[in-house]
Amino acid sequence: MDFEEAREKLITELKLEGIKDEKVLEAFSKIPRHFFVPKEMIKESYLNIALPIGYGQTISQPYTIAVMLEALELKKGDKVLEAGTGSGYNAALISYIIGKKGKLFTTEIVPELAEKSRKKISELGLKNVKVVVCDGSLGYNKEKPYSKIIVTAACKEVPPPLVKQLKNNGILVAPVGNLYEQEMLKVKKIGKKLDIKKLGFFVFVPLKGAYEP
Ligand code: SAH
Repeated sequence: MDFEEAREKLITELKLEGIKDEKVLEAFSKIPRHFFVPKEMIKESYLNIALPIGYGQTISQPYTIAVMLEALELKKGDKVLEAGTGSGYNAALISYIIGKKGKLFTTEIVPELAEKSRKKISELGLKNVKVVVCDGSLGYNKEKPYSKIIVTAACKEVPPPLVKQLKNNGILVAPVGNLYEQEMLKVKKIGKKLDIKKLGFFVFVPLKGAYEP
């Protein structure tokens, strides 16, 4: 199986679907998705689809991740919070984009998934990521404030604790809706106001806890 060729094909597809951010596209070409996909599905690694990773969870569809990462306007040195580590793939992409001076705190509620992703991230030599086992819908108060926050599971509203932990002028991206469909929201915090942009409909597994749809 030629993973490199499959990966390049996927990137061409992402470009055709409208992804323009060069840093995001570069991250997709550098981080091996097949490394985060269960062995039984390794051949499907570079298809533009979500795949099961066990515990009823999924590794998100590449296009969906690309939309979210582009919306976050990530740059080197960003301090980022992710809710829903899952396989760790999205975390690895963010880690690559924010570089050595950046820092990512990623939260996961299933301890086994956190442990697996921690191992993968360390095997790839990514040192700017900390995987934390906790209810990420409440954020990770200890390291606040964050310049960017990403939620990779469906919530019924933008979790207020996360908005609180976001820096002024910071950006938060989250899929908000019911169990069957969610609208991707890009939220910019400007003083006490929130500027909200809608980025289309997607389907995610639910975020457990107080904001579960
Ligand atoms: N970003 C992931 C995809 C995540 S799927 C990837 O790249 O693979 C959503 C993940 O959110 C699942 O692993 C699920 O266990 C986790 N999750 C659900 N509710 C959560 C919560 N309240 N806090 C932290 N993680 C949660």
